[in-house]
Amino acid sequence: MVNKVCVDPGHGMSNRSKGVFDPGAVHVEAGVRFEEAVIALKYGLTLKDEFRARGIDVFMTRDDAEDHAPVGQRAANAKNAGCDLFVSLHLNDFDDDAANGFEVLFRDNADKPLAQQLQKAIVAITKMRDRGVKQRTDLAVLKFDGTAVLIELGFIANDRDRETLLNPQIRAAVCKAIAEVALAQ
Ligand SMILES: [Zn+2]
Repeated sequence: MVNKVCVDPGHGMSNRSKGVFDPGAVHVEAGVRFEEAVIALKYGLTLKDEFRARGIDVFMTRDDAEDHAPVGQRAANAKNAGCDLFVSLHLNDFDDDAANGFEVLFRDNADKPLAQQLQKAIVAITKMRDRGVKQRTDLAVLKFDGTAVLIELGFIANDRDRETLLNPQIRAAVCKAIAEVALAQ
């Protein structure tokens, strides 16, 4: 039963250093610069609307590019805000631009079924390569005291993944699926 959700768009202002904007993964294609933090925020704001439309309270770790959101404090901030579910949104990156696909990370075994359901639902929408779910015990945001998943939406440097993620209809469908799957738990 979910009462309040933390939506965590990865990176942003003061993520790693106070007063410094962390763009996350960056990719330049034909002179156009794409930043993970910007794309993750778009997904976060859409996801917030999807949860609120279903009557669920939402706490955002950051609402824009100016919000100070140190990565080490996000899990605690969400707990203090009364959240019982934490959804972190990121894009993947790799040296080889051919790397592609979608994956959901989790820490606690109890959160694996949610990760698997999100994995299945979103791959069906984006048609990206299914990289499977992965257990990670080292990520600060997954130390959230409660259910937590980190969604790697796709690879920013891969042309097909990036174009898919920049499509507003895909974004709407993905965020709708995340809200539906999360609230069906
Ligand atoms: Zn990231």
